[in-house]
Amino acid sequence: MLYLVRYSEIFLKSEWVRRKWEDRLIRNIKRVLDCRIRRERGRIWVITDDPNAKEKLKKIFGIVSFSECHHCKLEDLDRFVVDFCRMIGIEKAKTFAVRVKRVGTHDFTSQQKAAEIGAIILRNFPNLKVDLDNPDLTIYVEIRDDDCYLFSEVIRGVGGIPLGVEGKLVSLFSGGIDSPVATWLMMKRGCEIIPIYFDCSPFTDESTLKRAKAVAEVLREYDPDFELRIVEHGEFLIKLKEILKEMRLESYTCVLCKRRMYRVAEEIAREEGAKGLVTGESLGQVASQTLDNLMVLDEACRLPIYRPLIGFDKLEVEELAKKIGTFEASIMQAKECEAVPKKPVTRAKLEKVLEIEEKLEPV
Ligand code: ATP
Ligand code: MG
Repeated sequence: MLYLVRYSEIFLKSEWVRRKWEDRLIRNIKRVLDCRIRRERGRIWVITDDPNAKEKLKKIFGIVSFSECHHCKLEDLDRFVVDFCRMIGIEKAKTFAVRVKRVGTHDFTSQQKAAEIGAIILRNFPNLKVDLDNPDLTIYVEIRDDDCYLFSEVIRGVGGIPLGVEGKLVSLFSGGIDSPVATWLMMKRGCEIIPIYFDCSPFTDESTLKRAKAVAEVLREYDPDFELRIVEHGEFLIKLKEILKEMRLESYTCVLCKRRMYRVAEEIAREEGAKGLVTGESLGQVASQTLDNLMVLDEACRLPIYRPLIGFDKLEVEELAKKIGTFEASIMQAKECEAVPKKPVTRAKLEKVLEIEEKLEPV
């Protein structure tokens, strides 16, 4: 099969950047699809026998839309267009339109050719009518010199920019509804992700880890190199709980827990050359995600922290999770963290936090 792939935003760039982004997009296509690629300015052609090609192309960042095309030579176009119409079941439609685009020198205009093809279709399928404004079906014909490409469907891609062109980020990846969506949004904007799951057992258990792995599996469909890393976090939490109990500051558990996550994530980011962190926080969504608390969290990490969901409502995040495909896995039964206190602090004080951390061994 032959696919015409259209990409976004790349054309906005300078020649050099465009080349680099195109190279990356092609590499990303080849990673998931056994195919041959041809490129022309502003267009990529993918030639493949993979029966799942459509599903795969729908999950490659940077592709705005694509079409399954049929090819013929210009001299055969009049005959071929009838076969093509049968192939796509044009009889099911009541109205149609023909749109022609041309590259190269020809002795006809695009409009003339469209009218000609329209007449051929009408002759062969007399029950159809032409409707240029709101047709049931559109026949697109791209003529490039003496090659013609026919298609009738423009399939929407996921959009965004090619994965990897912006470099790496470390994601704090819990497997809940939010962090996978936040992660996906950064992937969509070209970031390669190192996802880290902090294992809080005994406060969580196997079910929580299993959920994170299942969600990561969904994101692997967008990036085959998406590999969940697991960091032990339970021992730290046990120690933290002891100290907070003594100090009667249990309400600070979540803030201190997250600060350790941020510190470890920063270390990994520096080792891996990643340029920041991404988390699923959304302002005010839960007691711990207040401006005061986020300020105290940010202080634990020198790298930029990206929170693409900061302005999203819960419902909006859920809708997006469904669209991306992570929702089902994220709502799997999983043990909620038992270290969470009854009343988490909403206005954590940095001085208090630092005082508590003095008592913790450096991690
Ligand atoms: P999520 O839906 O992503 O679990 P949440 O709304 O439940 O988030 P919190 O539990 O307060 O919110 O977590 C805030 C953010 O901290 C998460 O979005 C995630 O980025 C990170 N985080 C929380 N727990 C973990 C964990 N066990 N491992 C990795 N990251 C975590
Ligand atoms: Mg959570």
